Amino acid sequence: MAASLPKLWLKQGREKSLLRRHPWVFSGAIERVEGSPAPGDTIDIVASSGEFLGRAAYSPASQIRARLWTFHAEEAVGAAFLRRRLERAIESRRRLGLLDADAACRLVFSESDGLPGLIVDRYADFLVCQFLSSGAETWAPTLVELLGELCAPLGIYERSEGSGRNKEGLAPRRGVLSGAEPPRELEVVVSGLKLVIDIANGQKTGAYLDQQRNRKRVAAHAQGAEVLDAFAYTGGFSIASLRAGAIAATLIDSSADAVALAEREAVRNGVAERCEFVVANVFDELRTLREAGRQFGLVVLDPPKFVHSAEQLASGSRGYKDINLLGLQLVRAGGVLATFSCSGHVDAALFQKIVAGAAVDSGRTAQILERLSQPGDHPIATEFPESEYLKGLILRVH
Ligand code: SAH
Repeated sequence: MAASLPKLWLKQGREKSLLRRHPWVFSGAIERVEGSPAPGDTIDIVASSGEFLGRAAYSPASQIRARLWTFHAEEAVGAAFLRRRLERAIESRRRLGLLDADAACRLVFSESDGLPGLIVDRYADFLVCQFLSSGAETWAPTLVELLGELCAPLGIYERSEGSGRNKEGLAPRRGVLSGAEPPRELEVVVSGLKLVIDIANGQKTGAYLDQQRNRKRVAAHAQGAEVLDAFAYTGGFSIASLRAGAIAATLIDSSADAVALAEREAVRNGVAERCEFVVANVFDELRTLREAGRQFGLVVLDPPKFVHSAEQLASGSRGYKDINLLGLQLVRAGGVLATFSCSGHVDAALFQKIVAGAAVDSGRTAQILERLSQPGDHPIATEFPESEYLKGLILRVH
């Protein structure tokens, strides 16, 4: 099989990242492509010497021209290969204890699970897939069939959307891939917390699963506190905090749909009467709260990605600085700020620097009590540092 595959020849000296098993080939590293592969076709990557480096999915529309499936010459890319990778990913979540019948977790995290461009989230009996690369797109029907066999879900839904797909020259797509349509409000239970998921219309695949563990870590500081939950989405941080002893929570999100889901989630968890729901821009609302002299024992800042590319680093960093400055000013003396960034371009050291700058400007002092990261169902591949994106700080603020 291998002999018949199209071949991508790298320029001299451009094999180093592949030898370290980084799974991307950028357009600038390419000498020539031998054969005429279609988008998503499997190709062999070779060094200028002709040495085999790996086997990849070809993506002519993207700057990331090829994404590596395997670095082993003897490993063919096909249903058996994909099954092995899926099994490995699912087994890891099983060992992490994340596969209870009514639970939710990320089953497959793209490059980190050796399946570039494939995201699979499990919400109880439903799976949600995102095919975000040409390779994943080409193998989508096979992957759906394999997921059906391995997980036996009631239904598999597609939410292939977002900027990554545009860059691969793929149009967004949404809908049922197999089995039943998911209900408008699917309930899943995570650490005793009932999350209400709208798979078809919610953000991303329906929930921010990467914050599940962090909601618990943050809620550990909630006893007796009034909570300010900025960028609340469906209120995961508030509801975990209220269940852990917070006395009240103010949830702010600019999406009315998100706030409506948050209200339903609060009702199901029996905490709605202690919640105040606000549909507003966080930047404006925090200023309003500050002018009103409000103070909170626990402030949570969980904004969307501010930095999507290296060019946005300066403007995005200002966004983080502004929001943290406002957040710090709203913490009652001796209270806690839990602050996050999901921008991969902002690394943990830079994020800490930004927060430190905000503390100086706010006139408050802040101590780091805990550093937070992404959970085990969003693993960080050591050879692929781009897979590390979520960081958080829990700070005591005086
Ligand atoms: N904390 C949430 C996840 C937040 S995701 C959780 O635990 O599930 C980021 C949220 O910020 C989204 O719900 C989005 O609607 C909201 N958002 C984005 N920009 C905003 C802004 N300027 N003001 C208020 N909300 C915003």
